[in-house]
Amino acid sequence: MINLILFGPPGSGKGTQAESLVKKYNLLHISTGDLFRYNIKNSTPLGLEAKSYIDKGDLVPDSVTINMLKAKVDENPDVKGYIFDGFPRTIPQAQALDELLSPSGGVSSLLMLDVPDEELVKRLLNRGKTSGRADDQDDQIVRNRLSNYKKDTIPVFDYYVDEGKSVKIWGVGSLEEVFARLSLELDRL
Ligand code: ADP
Repeated sequence: MINLILFGPPGSGKGTQAESLVKKYNLLHISTGDLFRYNIKNSTPLGLEAKSYIDKGDLVPDSVTINMLKAKVDENPDVKGYIFDGFPRTIPQAQALDELLSPSGGVSSLLMLDVPDEELVKRLLNRGKTSGRADDQDDQIVRNRLSNYKKDTIPVFDYYVDEGKSVKIWGVGSLEEVFARLSLELDRL
């Protein structure tokens, strides 16, 4: 099984690239951000809880996020593999994912889309003009997400470096160029 973590800061293009990758490699795309937004839209108890964190640009607590992710994986056992987008974002989430995937061979690879900060802020505020996402419309919230990424999420990259699984991919360029760089890595798995 291919169990891929598509990693990178907010605005690095994970969601867009994941959509293309799932088609080419026939994997299931699981985006925790999309799952939260779906729950918020439908006013579920999970959505109501998550919203208070997301609106501020903070991470949703691990217990909530991990349970939601596990449920999604358990619902879809008969797949060729997964692309995890936006998960894991903390070390406890990475440990939970390792445990969850241990029967299917563990995490295959973590591909990080590497994009400079100022480009990210520009992309996110630009996306906010059309996406309707409140967390993309405010400079302070965007910067808070980037600082949380550095504090809580970069350690996940280092965690998989120790296992020889982390790879950095240059995330600036056309969608096709970035897609080709990711595909090169996936073809090796
Ligand atoms: P982006 O990558 O652009 O920040 P996402 O759609 O991945 O957007 O996530 C949106 C928000 O959802 C995050 O800012 C965070 O509040 C919450 N979220 C998503 N995934 C996680 C996660 N794995 N752990 C905690 N919070 C998360």
